[in-house]
Amino acid sequence: MTLHRLTPLDLHLRHTFRLSRGASDQRHNLLVELEAGGLVGLGEAAPIPRYAQDRESSAAAITAMVPRLGDPRHFAGAARRVAVPGQAAAEAAVDMALRDLAGKRLGAPIYELLGLDPEQVPPTSFTIAIDDPEVMPSRVREAPGFESLKIKLGGPDDRAMLTAVRRSTEQRLRVDANEGWTLDNALGHLEWLAELGVELVEQPLPAADLDGARELARVSPIPLVADESVGRAEDIPRLVGAFHVVNIKLMKCGGLGEALRMIEVARAHGLKVMLGCMIESSVAISAALQIAPLVDYVDLDGSLLLREDPFEGPRLVDGRLMPSNRPGLGVSRRR
Ligand code: MG
Repeated sequence: MTLHRLTPLDLHLRHTFRLSRGASDQRHNLLVELEAGGLVGLGEAAPIPRYAQDRESSAAAITAMVPRLGDPRHFAGAARRVAVPGQAAAEAAVDMALRDLAGKRLGAPIYELLGLDPEQVPPTSFTIAIDDPEVMPSRVREAPGFESLKIKLGGPDDRAMLTAVRRSTEQRLRVDANEGWTLDNALGHLEWLAELGVELVEQPLPAADLDGARELARVSPIPLVADESVGRAEDIPRLVGAFHVVNIKLMKCGGLGEALRMIEVARAHGLKVMLGCMIESSVAISAALQIAPLVDYVDLDGSLLLREDPFEGPRLVDGRLMPSNRPGLGVSRRR
């Protein structure tokens, strides 16, 4: 197996994507192409700045990993075995490229190789980032077909923003504070969040504040979702009592093998499972969609937030993002 190509993927967002910890208009992802037996498998890394990753560190990790991968037929655990510590996005990219190759070689989508039924994919939520409350009605109008909206909070106008959203739509609302609140903030917010009918609250407190999370979970009428607090399966047991749902992302955990393990571990601990994403093209989104039939909540809108997705494959049908039925990831360059 050889590293066929590494290509920068500059992804431009439709709107400035503002979270509690900063804003961006574009993302610097990386496309990896692995070649074996005349076939090319695609993978995408969406480096996470919070974990000190960038496109350069991802490229260096992938370049170091590929020569050590061995027989492409033995893809299970292969990316993990040669992973560079701290470079989970690179690991995820290699893992999905290997599985794309396997699917293309065997002529089946990855979900089929896993025995999963794509009809079981839950609807995806659609994200609205932090912005002025006055623009919320127009943001809501851009997302008519989605069953639920995920509103980013942790900014100066949380209550005004969410109230403006609530007045504009009957859609279900989830919120994500991206570690932007303190325990006192969060305790003060719970009541009005519940009044506005919020379904889930994601990562209200900094990941390091697990004691605060436990205290919040004791009184919260709304289920709490761990995102920044969870990376891989081994992080899950200590979240019991602090969160009700874990948000699994390929870029945090290093690929589909680990994501499958996390789903089992979360369920064994009585936790529900969300499948999330970073800002990604349809390559990485398609990888996550392969296992989406196994989860409770889907938040795989990364490619839908782009001005232009360089790849195509998944289709949005009645608020559900469905994986393509083509082999492997089922994605190709958009013409
Ligand atoms: Mg989140």
